[in-house]
Order: sequence, then C-alpha cells, then structure tokens
Amino acid sequence: MHAPQTSLQPDAYITGLIRDYYSKCRIPAPERVGSREFGVGTFERKIMKRHISFRDESAIQAYLSENAPAYVSYSTAYYRFPAGRPMETKGWTGSELVFDLDVDDIDPKNLACGARHGRSWVCADCLDGVKSETLKLIEEFLIPDFGFSEREIAVNFSGNRGYHVHVGKDSITQLGPEARKEISDYISGNGLSIDEFFPEAARGARLTGPRPDEKGWKGRIARKFISTMNKGPDALMALGADKSVANNIYRKRALIEMGINSGNWDMVYIKNKSEFWKGVLGNEAIAQSDRIDGNVTKDISHLIRLPDTVHGGTGLVAKRIASVSALAAFDPMASALAFTEGEMEINAESGNELVIGNKTFGPYKGEKAVLPIYAGVYLYLKGLASITTIT
Ligand SMILES: [Zn+2]
Repeated sequence: MHAPQTSLQPDAYITGLIRDYYSKCRIPAPERVGSREFGVGTFERKIMKRHISFRDESAIQAYLSENAPAYVSYSTAYYRFPAGRPMETKGWTGSELVFDLDVDDIDPKNLACGARHGRSWVCADCLDGVKSETLKLIEEFLIPDFGFSEREIAVNFSGNRGYHVHVGKDSITQLGPEARKEISDYISGNGLSIDEFFPEAARGARLTGPRPDEKGWKGRIARKFISTMNKGPDALMALGADKSVANNIYRKRALIEMGINSGNWDMVYIKNKSEFWKGVLGNEAIAQSDRIDGNVTKDISHLIRLPDTVHGGTGLVAKRIASVSALAAFDPMASALAFTEGEMEINAESGNELVIGNKTFGPYKGEKAVLPIYAGVYLYLKGLASITTIT
C-alpha cells in the first residue's frame, strides 16, 4: 500500500537529483576560470545570484555539489576582478565570441513541425533544424570566411532548445560591441545588398556576377543558385522565381552553370529580381534574432550556460560536444540526460509524444504514468505533469 505522499516537494526532489549529478560528474572549468564571473539561478529565475568567482575547478565542483543550483551560467568576458560590483569595477580584459542558436530564431517556414506542436514544445525535427543551422554557421562561415580552425571552436547543447558556439581565439577577445555587431550582421546577411554582386552592365556588355569559387558571400550566392537550379523548377519557385522563369532556367541549366563558373550571368533572367535574391540570402544566412539578451555575440557582459551543467527547465545537461565533427551525429535527447537512473510516477497532460532516451512517451490526457526519472522530470519542468510518487 502506498501512503499518499502529501509532503512531496517536487523542486526539493529535483534539487536532490541535481546535487547527486554534481557529486558524481566532473564539470570542467572554463578556460581562464579565475577571470570569469559566474551566476546561479533557481527554477523560477535563471540568474538569482551573480558576481560569483571561482579560483579553479575544484572550487566550482564544491560549490555545485553543495548548492545544486537549477541553472549555472558564466561570463563570456574575462575580468581582472570577476566578483566586483557594480559591473564597471570588474575591469574587463576581453570576451569570447559566442553565438546562441535557438529553435525560436529559425524561420517557421523551414520548420513545418512548429505548426503541429506549437512554439512551446520542441521535437526532434526542431532540434535537427537548429543543429543544421549550427553546422552551417561553423562550416560555411566561421571556418572558411573568418579563418577559425576547428580547434578554436567549442560547441555545446544549450540544455533546452539550441546550441552555443564559443570561439576563444586570442585575436578576437579584444573586439568591442561594434565589431561583434559587424560579425553578427555578416553571418545573418544584414545590410547585404545584392546589387553589389551584380555591377550594372553597360548596354551590350555581358552581365557579370559572382563565381562559385569566390570567397565569402559571393561564392555562397553563386553556389546556392547553381544547387537550387539543379534541384529543379520547384526549388527555384520556392525562392521566389515565377513558373515560366523557373522552367526556362532549369531547361538551360547546363549552359547557365558553365557561364556562372566564369562569372557570366547573361543567361539568368529573373523578373522579380529583388524578391528572388532576398529568398536566396534568407536561406543562406544564419538565423540570429535581435533579442537583447539572446544575441550574446554583441553583449560582452552576458552570462551564458556553463557547459556540462544541468538546465533547470528540462533536467537535461548543457552538454559539451567532443568536437565539431561529432556534432552531426549528436542527439541531445539521448546523449544529454542528467538523471539516468530510477523511475517516478507522474500525472501528465501533454498533447505531444516525448522522444527521450531513445524511447517514446505519451501523449497523455491527464493520466498517471510511471516513467524513467529523466522523462518525468522533463515533463514536470515543462509544466506538463505533476509528480505523484517517487519510487
Ligand atoms: Zn518541432
């Protein structure tokens, strides 16, 4: 017989799980740990206390296993006095370059699942979408255009709906907010004018434009055009070309490609030019929102989730990914679980299937279910379940 557990305090229970996690798992200190500011939060508030500093990894570990905060964040900035307050007394000495990619920033047109499950839920397709965006940022911008090497780029899952990309190269730590804004604009294609790529042709002269082997946006635009053209008229129409133009381009694709390879765009005639190129740019740019606290790139005093710590909104780990090449195969819903042992009973009401730990749970219509702790805690923290019994 089960006695009703009226004294059950879900948050205290989950705090216990978090404490357990920190007493068993090593949390690597960020590089230059003594120059970083830390902040910790509760389930209600992600940053409840900040201006904390740690000497080394063992000090972090001791603090986390004792306090088991629901969220742990750290500064992307380095300071002479990281615990100093107010901010001006800290003595900023530099900042990493950080990109925060979130499901919410991806164009809903490119994530059809959103219409099915709403904005508050995140499914495997959402997570795959934001992972592709992260790979695109690294493989098509940070490495080829900015010249960073894989070794200088670190990626971690955010713990909920996205990925964080950190670049720690010495040459960029001194960049101020304006230079960071320029980088952000470059990758998101802000202020890019397509006319710059196609200089006005004199009467009778051929229309010159970018070649696929060119660096930066020029090459990116030429390559995107060629790959879209080769996919067929539908792909061209999806970017805004009208039907007859799309068919015409597709029919002459071999000749057109040959021309573009040497910068000759004479055979490409598009009626609604500006809209079409806007479509091309939108597809190639990295979706970065202008949320003030979200666009970490520009805000050098921002605190961001410490990799390998627990996210108090999901019970998942903001898991560090071993290398850029390991990102493609990474599945956070299987590899970023914090509470891997034990089961619990919940009363759940959730319209969506939850795929976690390589198993599928739900949907639930206000019913009791016994689940692995990682799944029950996930639904509870998302506000879709109450905890009834802990076994
Ligand atoms: Zn989805």
